[in-house]
Amino acid sequence: MDLKKYVTVVPDYPKPGIQFKDITTLMDNGDAYRYATDQIVEYARKQNIDIIVGPEARGFIIGCPVAYSLGVGFAPVRKEGKLPREVVRVEYGLEYGKDVLTMHKDAIKPGQRVLITDDLLATGGTIEATIKLVEELGGVVAGIAFLIELSYLDGRSKLDDYDILTLMKF
Ligand code: 5GP
Repeated sequence: MDLKKYVTVVPDYPKPGIQFKDITTLMDNGDAYRYATDQIVEYARKQNIDIIVGPEARGFIIGCPVAYSLGVGFAPVRKEGKLPREVVRVEYGLEYGKDVLTMHKDAIKPGQRVLITDDLLATGGTIEATIKLVEELGGVVAGIAFLIELSYLDGRSKLDDYDILTLMKF
């Protein structure tokens, strides 16, 4: 299936000059969403995944159906102040300023093999921060899966030590 047909490229969103990749037109098509999910499930089986981790909010949309299909758990990565119990936190750089991501301290058991999911790899900053959280908790990042990779931003170079699946490249 040609998944790219289901991604809508929106010019000048959220700022002039940005070609935003809108995945809602993939998600709202049952066949395309299931096909994309199945590709990631197959990859997760090969990597012997114990648990899925995804950053809010689109990492949930990708990771949760994969977790359901495999019968493994899903642990959310959230912005500061959203998780109710003790967390680990990491600051990461944005284009302008900083942001913080957190995970519950008991979300991953040491040694668990983790698949990280998100919709899109751009500069790699979000996933780099997510990896730090997983590794701080003793998880082993056994794979990272995205629907889309923006090759021209070369986020992949930040993730040299990790196994990556991307279903589409722009
Ligand atoms: P990075 O941290 O790799 O620079 O940016 C990736 C994050 O920004 C992802 O969590 C993704 O959801 C969001 N993002 C950046 N650009 C786009 C885009 O064009 N389309 C979508 N759907 N998400 C984007």
